[in-house]
Amino acid sequence: MSKKRNYKGSYAGANTVSFKDMLLKKDILRAISECGFEHPSEVQQTAIPFAMVGQDMIVQAKSGMGKTAVFVIATLQQIDATEGEDAEIDTLVLCHSREMAFQIHKEFERLGKYVPEIKTAVIYGGVNFTEQKKAIEENMPHVLVGTPGRVQHFMNKGIISFKSLQRMILDECDDMLQDDSMRRQIQDIFKKAPFAKQMLMCSATISESAARVCRQISENAEEIFLDDSKLTLHGLQQHYVELAEDQKIKNLTSLLDRIDFNQMMIFVKSKKRATALNKILSEACFPSIFLHGGLKQEDRLDRYRKFKEFEARILITTNLCGRGVDMERVNVVINFDMPEKSNEYLHRVGRAGRFGTKGLAITFVNDESDKKTLAEIQDRFEVKVTTLPKNIDTASYTN
Ligand code: AMP
Repeated sequence: MSKKRNYKGSYAGANTVSFKDMLLKKDILRAISECGFEHPSEVQQTAIPFAMVGQDMIVQAKSGMGKTAVFVIATLQQIDATEGEDAEIDTLVLCHSREMAFQIHKEFERLGKYVPEIKTAVIYGGVNFTEQKKAIEENMPHVLVGTPGRVQHFMNKGIISFKSLQRMILDECDDMLQDDSMRRQIQDIFKKAPFAKQMLMCSATISESAARVCRQISENAEEIFLDDSKLTLHGLQQHYVELAEDQKIKNLTSLLDRIDFNQMMIFVKSKKRATALNKILSEACFPSIFLHGGLKQEDRLDRYRKFKEFEARILITTNLCGRGVDMERVNVVINFDMPEKSNEYLHRVGRAGRFGTKGLAITFVNDESDKKTLAEIQDRFEVKVTTLPKNIDTASYTN
């Protein structure tokens, strides 16, 4: 039987357990400290002690609360490796997008800096297969991060084997399990791995139906859940503007002139609209770039890096970057197009206000369907999204 725990969903609590109290390897503690993580967030305090001793878990963590570190630390803590020894894949992390695979792998490198004997690698589609194959064959990792399609392909070709797999992690599990093709790929990989393995499944939103699938995957999982009403990011101001479709660009450019921001993400509903809007903003000399799934993979990662490294201040994108993507300088999110589903809204606006910081989210509401979605968002997440005031104090959304 699974055990369900609820927690409050805040950052560091008054009776904080420190990372030291968790009895982690000193080389991991050293990396944690270098990352500037002073205190574990509540989800880290609750989940790491279970996850690091091999417990199966279903973890719902508020966006930006450090859930990646939960499974990265728990994994690094459990692997015993010896420098120079041949490796077998011990841990597989599956995630929904190539950008996320890249980002999660970076987190393994960052937190695993002082345990270099634990080898990590990342694979995803859209890039040269032969080069990736060669790299993996020459240096088999202990931890493999990847997107389900490419991992399945490598497995079917016999390049990698999961016969010694100890742990499988599904990040943004609800998204992956609700996508028919990804779910089938995950099931196929799952079946090829030993039955006795640790399962860690995480997301900011886990619907009842996704939770049911997770429980089928693991019957003994410790569950950490948050009520939807507790998912709201309290540092985030949320407003909307009601307007006609043909007023969107004018309103956006006026907003860009009016509000101060560190970095901004603008979400649109299609690849075509991302390209077109970027053209308009660039021609008007706004420092924008765009990123969507229609671009070549090298180009996608290049743009991701460029934005992460602050070489552009505005990123126009689709739902591709709506989840998980961690850009610490983003303090404003604009929904140029309303997302189709309320959980997409929560993930998108969560790009601002990471790890308890302040942020601002503005959503353009155009028609009856948008209004319905907005009402659903306010109801489900118990958040008040108000009309955009004429003046907003910059200090209220900037740290
Ligand atoms: P995540 O929710 O995993 O995307 O993490 C959001 C951001 O919080 C990332 O930039 C992490 O590096 C950062 N982070 C994770 N844990 C901590 C911590 N304990 N203290 C400070 N920052 C953290």
